[in-house]
Amino acid sequence: MRKALVLGAGGFIGSHLVKRLKSEGFWVRGVDLKYPEFSETHADDFVIGDLRDQYLTKSVIDTKFDEIYQLAADMGGAGYVFTGQFDADIMHNSAQINLNVLDYAYKRNNKRIFYSSSACIYPAYNQTDPNNPKCSEDSAYPAEPDSEYGWEKLFSERLYLSYMRNYGMEVRIARFHNIFGPEGTWFGGKEKAPAALCRKVATTENGGEIEIWGDGMQTRSFLYIDECLEGSTRLMRSNNFGPVNIGSEEMVTINQLAEMIMKIADKNVSLKHIPGPLGVRGRNSDNHLIEKMLNWKPSQPLEDGLKVTYNWILDEVKRINFK
Ligand code: NAD
Repeated sequence: MRKALVLGAGGFIGSHLVKRLKSEGFWVRGVDLKYPEFSETHADDFVIGDLRDQYLTKSVIDTKFDEIYQLAADMGGAGYVFTGQFDADIMHNSAQINLNVLDYAYKRNNKRIFYSSSACIYPAYNQTDPNNPKCSEDSAYPAEPDSEYGWEKLFSERLYLSYMRNYGMEVRIARFHNIFGPEGTWFGGKEKAPAALCRKVATTENGGEIEIWGDGMQTRSFLYIDECLEGSTRLMRSNNFGPVNIGSEEMVTINQLAEMIMKIADKNVSLKHIPGPLGVRGRNSDNHLIEKMLNWKPSQPLEDGLKVTYNWILDEVKRINFK
């Protein structure tokens, strides 16, 4: 039986990935500081543990796996990453996880390892025009990520690539662009724009008002979780190492995103623009490389994934009587 290891299996993408690998017939071990928050894990073996700890890391990479996915990171949405308040933790925790995981994977002769980098590595100077951001893979240097989160991801990409060059590791690096879907964090400070806006619309009366950080003219693209997993497993099993964008090319402003959610909710609320942490002015995935490498690229319309996500958040709001 094929065996997979998912690090960060209690998180949003990791918990969905475990389900997908199980449906493909893998035996799966998951590792995280916590169990998935919104449903039972599907992993055969789930280890609660801290990957900053070398001994724990060594103990969970104690056998040969066909596929290792390293998704564990100290991360969150703009309210977590762009305030500056958590920079030391973000850099220290995620770098230490990657240093440990990669080294023990190498020492246990587990060559194939997937690393989830981020669109946040792209230089701020290429993302000042909301209508024309540049995020092709070859534009990463000269580096100027706009957050310490992005700098850590860039450092770790280089770490993985150096283990590939020096030790023959078969690394696979994806740069994810804003992944969203059901069973993701939707309140508490680490949620991202689609979940935060779904929550705000779901908890506001028709005719009411919701707050948007900034003028709402900043642009982004959002990729539904199923397509993220499709791209990730395809990359993992291909002969390409990346780094390659896994994201949607359907760019919208945050105001447009809010309007799409209102339409799904069949509500009309007004938008109150307030100061808040923003990140770059414009960002979009560039999918030329993934299409060339994998003969595949994401294609699902944003609205389809938003419908599923909004309805899941609406159910959650009712279930816990969230105010
Ligand atoms: P998430 O926060 O839901 O999942 C990350 C998981 O890592 C969490 O469950 C957390 O508990 C776990 N973790 C953190 N520190 C740990 C430690 N010391 N030991 C063990 N586990 C630890 O985030 P996600 O959205 O599922 O993202 C998964 C990966 O993809 C992350 O590396 C993230 O940086 C990357 N990524 C995500 C997005 C996105 O839009 N979701 C975009 C770009 C990159």
